[in-house]
Amino acid sequence: MNWLSRVIKIGEKIKKNLKKKFPTKSEQQASSWASLECCIHKGPIQKEILEKNLHVCPHCNAHKRVSCIQRFDYFFGKDNYEILDYPQPQPDPIEFPGYKDKLKEAIKKTGQKSAFMICAGKVNDINVTAIASNFSFVGGSLGQHETECFLTAIQHAITNRNPIINFTSGGGIRVQENIIGLSGMARTTLAINELKNNNLIYLNVLCDPTAGGQAASYAMLGDLNIAEPGATVAFAGARVIKSTIKEELPVGFQKSESVLESGFIDLIVERSKLYEKIGSLLSILLKKNSDINTELSDEIKVESPNIKEAS
Ligand SMILES: [Zn+2]
Repeated sequence: MNWLSRVIKIGEKIKKNLKKKFPTKSEQQASSWASLECCIHKGPIQKEILEKNLHVCPHCNAHKRVSCIQRFDYFFGKDNYEILDYPQPQPDPIEFPGYKDKLKEAIKKTGQKSAFMICAGKVNDINVTAIASNFSFVGGSLGQHETECFLTAIQHAITNRNPIINFTSGGGIRVQENIIGLSGMARTTLAINELKNNNLIYLNVLCDPTAGGQAASYAMLGDLNIAEPGATVAFAGARVIKSTIKEELPVGFQKSESVLESGFIDLIVERSKLYEKIGSLLSILLKKNSDINTELSDEIKVESPNIKEAS
């Protein structure tokens, strides 16, 4: 055996050992441990602990990205809501190269049919329709499926006279769908307009990240725009801005705390307190309950003279 064969053999041995040392993706998913990468407490954490903490880091309070089902579970409570279906258009409308495979992969990875899911639930005794987005499904981007899902939620809210709560998380419009994806901005905006013509409430909860065409359309049209702590809320990404202006960006740039200061959003609420705060807000907006959280109504100026009570 010459020296080259020996080096190749050693290389193969190292590769084999490395494979044994690091778990595969499916092994990671099946494991009861998750990895924290948000703060100095970097390292493994039991998934059960993270779940109990609503996917918020117990050390630094980083609000992690979650799936649509986790979002509904954490907000309404497990089994306290009903998932709604929506009409599904043809996938891959312009037959963009590789898009079909990307969609298949996203469906397998998330168990969702699109980046959005919708449900009907209750906040205190108020019936609501909710929308959630999953960033793990093609970056939570808005395509024709997501738009149909959104429009179905709006129609459900109008039919049942429900307020809408929209948990947003996405990086923009689905580029693989070109103009069809882009038309989602106009269609969702018109749908919200219809909701408002019916005097119904539209609340946004901006989750990390809400950016691009989504921030430029439905995600900023709420009667109130609430954000989770530390969520990126932006139009153009920080890297693009930095390379354009060739300057260092301030600490916390485009984070919910800084956009609150500039008046871009109304309120920052921790995940564990969202249900209670939104319950109080809906009570105020619907004038449903005189025993409301006055501290909250002082915190933000709520004006909703035209909003009628939900049935
Ligand atoms: Zn952390």
